[in-house]
Amino acid sequence: MKKIKVNENCIGCGACTAIAPDFFEFGDEGYAQPKEKEVEEITEDIKEAQEGCPTSAIEID
Ligand code: SF4
Repeated sequence: MKKIKVNENCIGCGACTAIAPDFFEFGDEGYAQPKEKEVEEITEDIKEAQEGCPTSAIEID
């Protein structure tokens, strides 16, 4: 399993939720969060979202 985290650099731009809506959503405070903290595998969508994040806020272990 791989862990996905959105760190405090998130500015709530919405890129990740647009690119990978199955994996990222907005939390109550207007910042993105992963829908699941762990996923079986890192899909292309998740990679694209990570690469597209303007503040490098998406961390994958
Ligand atoms: S792309 Fe990055 S900055 Fe934009 S909402 Fe997602 S985690 Fe936050």
